[in-house]
Amino acid sequence: MTEQPSEPKAALVSACLLGRECTYKATHNGDQALARELAAEGLAAVPFCPEEHGGLATPRPPADLTAAATDVLDGKGQVRTHSGEDVTLAFARGAAGALEVCQRLGLKRAFLKERSPSCGCATTHVGGEVVEGPGLTAALLRRHGVTCTGVEGRRE
Ligand code: SF4
Repeated sequence: MTEQPSEPKAALVSACLLGRECTYKATHNGDQALARELAAEGLAAVPFCPEEHGGLATPRPPADLTAAATDVLDGKGQVRTHSGEDVTLAFARGAAGALEVCQRLGLKRAFLKERSPSCGCATTHVGGEVVEGPGLTAALLRRHGVTCTGVEGRRE
């Protein structure tokens, strides 16, 4: 009988949800409820911050997508700071880094901070507004079969 590969016992997690002060304001979104949920499923957390990985500083200027993340992935939009600087390359590097970690470790799931232009899963920032749709990292991970779950952050 062929042995089935076992489900990985780890998931990629937005580092800010685990208490790392890596948001654009150099704060964190530590989420106690998520820690309990991961423990209940026996999942170890692999922390990752796409924006820091992409080479952006902390703190850093806030940034928005100019189009849906899937379009940005396809070169049909950018990521820009509120003052107009094009940071698409850094965001794309961060998304690619997240995918590389998932593929290297065989991770099939990611728990990511809702509303972020990188990590948002159900909602993100486009053109200065919160809209439905994923951020750039979540969009890329989903394209490659990683199940992304949005987490609000800062839950007790
Ligand atoms: S939401 Fe994602 S990109 Fe933003 S600080 Fe958290 S881990 Fe980093």
